[in-house]
Amino acid sequence: MNLLLYGAPGSGKGTQANMLRSKFGIPHIATGDMLRAEIAAGTELGRQAQPILAAGKYVSDEIMIGMIRNRLGEPDCEPGFIIDGFPRTVPQANALDTLMVELRKRFDRVIYLRVPVEELLQRLSGRLVCPQCQRTYPPNTSVCVADGSALAQREDDKPEAVRPRIEIYLEKTVPVLDHYRASGLVSEIDGRGTIDEISRQVLAAVAAPANGSTAQKAANKQQA
Ligand code: ADP
Repeated sequence: MNLLLYGAPGSGKGTQANMLRSKFGIPHIATGDMLRAEIAAGTELGRQAQPILAAGKYVSDEIMIGMIRNRLGEPDCEPGFIIDGFPRTVPQANALDTLMVELRKRFDRVIYLRVPVEELLQRLSGRLVCPQCQRTYPPNTSVCVADGSALAQREDDKPEAVRPRIEIYLEKTVPVLDHYRASGLVSEIDGRGTIDEISRQVLAAVAAPANGSTAQKAANKQQA
């Protein structure tokens, strides 16, 4: 099962990806988490990426494509994967298409979590994150229920970075959705509501047969 989670920052992709990972036992590949791990480890890539993330901008397509190429080639991805945070630009989407053909894989479903911009701004400013497990919490909470770690604010959830993140999403990442709509694989889900309600809809979407056109299905088959 190969899934792609699509949505704005703060739309709940990480939460739903964790649910899908436990349910299907396939890895959750979150490019933002991978970049934060590089920063924490003090690697050369981490040093380059740190100011970019802090400003709410995008790391270069070249770096991100290389990163996803390496990750999808790892053995734990063989049975399937959940990608969250990639592709964020049309060139990244084109590169991922090529990579999927090379790997002889295709996506079973693209899940789009739709949340209005006003709500995104509200959710991001003030949310807290567990530095260990990346679980997110509302303001005024202090420790993670899963592992007891002290919660912290992500550097890019500070007010000065939140608006640029939404702006770059609207400019560069919204066009990526059209790229996938043509495939008939996109399931659009209202990202407002309780986590459980949204999870139920995500699981129903994953279980439903793809409604791609016959031509697209034939193309997918040829690629597989
Ligand atoms: P969010 O979706 O909430 O903004 P992420 O953890 O997915 O958070 O990403 C954090 C940051 O990492 C992004 O703002 C960006 O700087 C960088 N990043 C992650 N994925 C990509 C990507 N595919 N292309 C470019 N930059 C990326």
